Amino acid sequence: MTNRNWKPATTLVHGGTNRSQFGETSEAIYLTQGFVYDSAEQAEARFKGEDAGFVYSRYANPTNDTFEKRMCALEGAEDARATASGMAAVAAALLCSVKAGDHVVAAQALFGSCRWIVETLMPRYGIETTLVDGRDLQAWEQAVRPNTKLFFLESPTNPTLEVVDIAAVAKIANGAGARVVVDNVFATPLQQKPLELGAHVVVYSATKHIDGQGRCLGGIVLSDKKWIDENLHDYFRHTGPSLSPFNAWTLLKGLETLPLRVKQQTESAAKIADFLADHPKVAKVLYPGRKDHPQADIIARQMKGGSTLVCLELKGGKGSAFNLSNALDIILISNNLGDAKSLITHPATTTHKNMTAEARAQVGITDGTLRLSVGLEDPVDLVADLDQALAQA
Ligand SMILES: *Cc1c(COP(=O)(O)O)cnc(C)c1O
Repeated sequence: MTNRNWKPATTLVHGGTNRSQFGETSEAIYLTQGFVYDSAEQAEARFKGEDAGFVYSRYANPTNDTFEKRMCALEGAEDARATASGMAAVAAALLCSVKAGDHVVAAQALFGSCRWIVETLMPRYGIETTLVDGRDLQAWEQAVRPNTKLFFLESPTNPTLEVVDIAAVAKIANGAGARVVVDNVFATPLQQKPLELGAHVVVYSATKHIDGQGRCLGGIVLSDKKWIDENLHDYFRHTGPSLSPFNAWTLLKGLETLPLRVKQQTESAAKIADFLADHPKVAKVLYPGRKDHPQADIIARQMKGGSTLVCLELKGGKGSAFNLSNALDIILISNNLGDAKSLITHPATTTHKNMTAEARAQVGITDGTLRLSVGLEDPVDLVADLDQALAQA
């Protein structure tokens, strides 16, 4: 049950529904490992792919199928595979795009575990990799080699909310015969459409805004049907990164309210960014919805809205950043994001502590940098909380 003409909010409530014979309103959770067959002949036909039913939940499951179809309808993708976490989705999308002897170009400002796959894991299997400043189009172009098969980026980036011009990078990749994988977590599926901008594969950590209430891990890879059939299908069957049907159901419930939450969180984040930008203890605010963002022109072209995250740099360095974090009453110290609860983290000592100080400096993370994920609390209370905590920073 999906209509391609529906607006996103309608798709997110009804898309992909597999209603059972009981006519339930809320999607059913098919918490089953296997499926039974009417006859040995039917089992044979299913294994041959001649009968369209389910076989085993490592391969496919009706609840996961609803989640995948709903995400495809939202993203404008032909096909998708849900995964147990965002990293399972990233690993699948990257590793299924290359083989030994191929070369990968990736933006250096990546989520820590994504960077580990590119910098550490891929070279172990004979895949060459180059990290570039994702904002520098010439750097992408100069990094291309005859064996370059894959470009990988995230935009906006974690935690400094830099953006990459996806259409321009996709054009360079197409010229080089390389595929573009975009980690679209920070933009959410509502604020940015990488496939429309020329990317080939989109990945999400559904753990973030898609769940949106801090409950379960999940992920998804979306692309065209041919690429998924030829590159992902067997990998998923035989390596088992499958999502639990219970978590798929939780994520479906999250999708129903995604537009409302992202709208509210983005509006609140914009108010908080404006408040912080005027505060004397704040050296810098990076927010994709503000006119003073260094790449405001690209944001206006490729994003439909700002962000639910705000990056700020305090004048007093690590001491001030810790004092501010410790003085907050409502905003919690946590490295997660996209939650209903507002969360703050100090990247240099948590999410990005494994990078060298030089590598952190290259992506704009200083000892005074804090990343704030804005939740669903009233923005008046959040600003008041930051105001009283800044007084103590
Ligand atoms: C959280 C995150 C991931 C990893 O997702 P998990 O669900 O935690 O495995 C990947 N990329 C980005 C940008 C993220 O924020």
